[in-house]
Amino acid sequence: MTQHQAQRDFDIVIVGGGIVGLSFACELAASDFTVAVVERNELKAVGEEPDCRVSAINRFALQRFKQSGKQTKVWQSALAKRACVFDKMFVWDQTGAGQIQFDSVELGVAELGVIIENNVLQHMLLETVKAADNISYLCPEEIVELAYPQTTDESAVSVITLSSGEQLSAKLLVGADGANSKVREIASIQRTQQSYQQQGLVCNVATSEGHQHTAWQCFMPTGPLAFLPLYNGYSSIVWSLDEGLAQDYLALDDDAFKHVLAQQSEFKLGEITDVSQRFLFPLAHGHATDYVKPGLALIGDAAHSIHPLAGQGANLGIADAVALADVISSAKKAGRQWNALHTLSKYQRQRKGANKVMEMSMTGFKELFGQENTLIAEMRNAGLMIVDHLPGLKYRIIKQALGV
Ligand SMILES: Cc1cc2nc3c(=O)[nH]c(=O)nc-3n(C[C@H](O)[C@H](O)[C@H](O)COP(=O)(O)OP(=O)(O)OC[C@H]3O[C@@H](n4cnc5c(N)ncnc54)[C@H](O)[C@@H]3O)c2cc1C
Repeated sequence: MTQHQAQRDFDIVIVGGGIVGLSFACELAASDFTVAVVERNELKAVGEEPDCRVSAINRFALQRFKQSGKQTKVWQSALAKRACVFDKMFVWDQTGAGQIQFDSVELGVAELGVIIENNVLQHMLLETVKAADNISYLCPEEIVELAYPQTTDESAVSVITLSSGEQLSAKLLVGADGANSKVREIASIQRTQQSYQQQGLVCNVATSEGHQHTAWQCFMPTGPLAFLPLYNGYSSIVWSLDEGLAQDYLALDDDAFKHVLAQQSEFKLGEITDVSQRFLFPLAHGHATDYVKPGLALIGDAAHSIHPLAGQGANLGIADAVALADVISSAKKAGRQWNALHTLSKYQRQRKGANKVMEMSMTGFKELFGQENTLIAEMRNAGLMIVDHLPGLKYRIIKQALGV
């Protein structure tokens, strides 16, 4: 450390300024905690064309964002116009007649959620973070050294040395640094990790029938394919494919790819009339054995990652951020030790079970719809039809996805 770079002391240092790290910071924007967010990559600028990495953000998360962004009015800005509302979901099984439809009108709500580009959402969250007096956003900053005290002594702090030479101290260190979390590693928290041996092929497409503000999901034996509606009338696709097939589809020329995609999606959105560049993302799921230690907590993909088939990964992480912020804020207000293990364990109790259930459900869905056995396929299709005609059960399922 050079002489002019003194250590800065914070209540909370968040490592990782992805969707989840920034959501957590936004939750703390009106608090009396002093907070630093350390992010290594500068945020990608918002382009003319929609980016290929998008997220389906559920009603719960959307309401929290609107609440925390009230001061900055960011949800009334031009950026907010890049969020596309979807009010229907249509799910079908390619191997039969099974299908199920969810409609916001039947649920009595205005929308099921929005589809938004990840970098647009991050820019919006960042506006709130930068406007908050109690938050320092440090980017681009790499962590050179991270000393976590590994003690139950509540006055012990973590010390983080950044690439600029600056040192930070934190009473609570929060790992929001994604699936390969360094914070998790430094804290010696184990994680189960399993690859699906699949890649997610993502790109944006135009379709002759338009997207109709509907999130479309087709289950096929090779993996699920989703069409998510975008603000400019295009749809973002996420197609889970075995590694070999993913590479084959990536290598196709645009016309051949458009043809395969239209055929495989059974022309539900008509012909594919335009396609952007395609990208692949490896698909895996994993779970940390613990989310918390004294003076340390993991949120988002640092704690758990799931199959993207229901678009729930970021939503679960945002729910973690909300729960952790609530737990430490209530403890502080009540004059309790807000960074102690017994306080942080409350956050783990609130979130771990729900996240585990979602992880197992996604893996179960993927396995179930990957079965080509005729009997299982028939039962699966019949099951979808039955659920579609049982409003009570159907809306219990969708409420889970909406986070309400
Ligand atoms: C193809 C695909 C489609 C998906 N679709 C959806 C969807 O529709 N809806 C949904 O809810 N979820 C979806 N997900 C899941 C979702 O993208 C993730 O769950 C979510 O982005 C995780 O956010 P995060 O902030 O926890 O982690 P990340 O997005 O991984 O962010 C971690 C951040 O930490 C930073 N970082 C890492 N290490 C360090 C370090 N040492 N120092 C400083 N900074 C560091 C990184 O640069 C990054 O910005 C999808 C996932 C995939 C693969």
